[in-house]
Amino acid sequence: MNFEPVMNPYDLTIAEASHLLKSRRISSVELTRAVLDRVSSVEGKLHAFVTVTENLALSQAEKADSRLSSGDATPLTGIPVIIKDNICTRGILTTCSSQMLRNFVPPYDATVMEKLNSHDIVLVGKGNMDEFAMGSSNEYSTFGPTRNPWDTERVPGGSSGGPAAGVAAGEAVYALGSDTGGSVRQPAGFCSVVGLKPTYGRVSRYGLVAFASSLDQIGPLARDVTDAALVMNAIAGHDPRDATSVPHPTPDYTRSLIPEIKGLRLGIPKEYFVEGMEAGVKQVIQTAISRLEEMGATIEEVSLPSMKYALSAYYIIAPSEASANLARYDGVKYGFSVQDAENMWDALEKTRQYGFGIEVKRRIMLGTHALSSGYYDAYYLKAQKVRTLIRQEFNQAFERFDALITPTSPTVPFKIGEKVEDPLQMYLSDVCTLPINIAGIPGISIPAGFVNGLPVGMQILAKPFAEEMILRIAFAYEQATGWHKQRPPI
Ligand code: GLN
Repeated sequence: MNFEPVMNPYDLTIAEASHLLKSRRISSVELTRAVLDRVSSVEGKLHAFVTVTENLALSQAEKADSRLSSGDATPLTGIPVIIKDNICTRGILTTCSSQMLRNFVPPYDATVMEKLNSHDIVLVGKGNMDEFAMGSSNEYSTFGPTRNPWDTERVPGGSSGGPAAGVAAGEAVYALGSDTGGSVRQPAGFCSVVGLKPTYGRVSRYGLVAFASSLDQIGPLARDVTDAALVMNAIAGHDPRDATSVPHPTPDYTRSLIPEIKGLRLGIPKEYFVEGMEAGVKQVIQTAISRLEEMGATIEEVSLPSMKYALSAYYIIAPSEASANLARYDGVKYGFSVQDAENMWDALEKTRQYGFGIEVKRRIMLGTHALSSGYYDAYYLKAQKVRTLIRQEFNQAFERFDALITPTSPTVPFKIGEKVEDPLQMYLSDVCTLPINIAGIPGISIPAGFVNGLPVGMQILAKPFAEEMILRIAFAYEQATGWHKQRPPI
């Protein structure tokens, strides 16, 4: 590689920055300062962070520099990262963008944080998000919305909107988000970065604040597919502290980065081109599919008819699990607590009344209703049956296809305020991403083009633990097109 002169350091990928760091052309302190300067100049317009950890970042960068000089650095050593604010960071505020946790400082690190810290990474700060990861636009953050760096009148997607916008704008080199129904992939699509949701069980959830435990997964947001593979190498793997993490060996994901997809069989599930999809988005995805065909893949339409029930099933399962998970916020154990209550019940009621925002309350009520006696069979049990059907359909499709290609989202980024009063419209943002969580399979969103300057993401899906197949197709497409090299005008 040849970088002469060094481009804006905050625009580098992990692979590029790591090359410069290891050859001592730039130090981690210099890189970190460049990123922090970038934060100072764009953060006022974007609001990608809940907390910026400037002093910590600089001291971690110094530590990384000494490791780099000793020669035992890894690709992540000394590279600045944003962590979504629902991933526990020891000694650092972890708010979930909620009043309920606005003063919560975890006494421990999430497993993914322990893993990253072992590489001597540089934490720039904690990323803004929809409260408790419920939302698709970042407008449900109690701290106010993050804006999209491609057009600051528009949303960055959600719920990992802060991490996605921050990576797109150069406020960090990569990020970790969480994805329960699309929260890594949809904002990745809206901000024109790469976002990967791993197979359920591939990455430990220990220390991820629980939303819907049977759907939640942590995944990387990055500037290109190589970087997503490098981050996966660091965070994937079995964790005895998460009973749902799978004891499969972790491959070296960078080995799947071969720009060659000749002979691969790609299915196009027709139901994912949903009613209401914007014509421009459809056009971009169809062009991308033709491109994959020119590159030698065979393309064939496939039908996954149960997809039309996925949204309804998700909005039973996810709120049901959320209502149980969020019962722990009682004002006693941790988090916000109302002080002027008359008695215990009054304290509990007021704590939850003031501590939770509107969307979180809506989910708790939906979930509590769906689980209540007399309704359980009609709602929750039925949704679980639909879940089985959706899984079976994917399994059948993967007998015939190496991967499936869909749009990430039916629209380009929408205007701030456009959907916030209309929950159903907001929920429809994730109609193409949430079936993937229901099935537990891996999925990636990669930049696939633009409509009037607004990003469009393409989603690639494969069978459980076939992240390598996804990365290979994503890498080949990225190399052939170069959409990932576009930077937002901010
Ligand atoms: N937008 C979806 C929801 O609101 C997905 C959120 C997520 O993946 N965390 O539930």
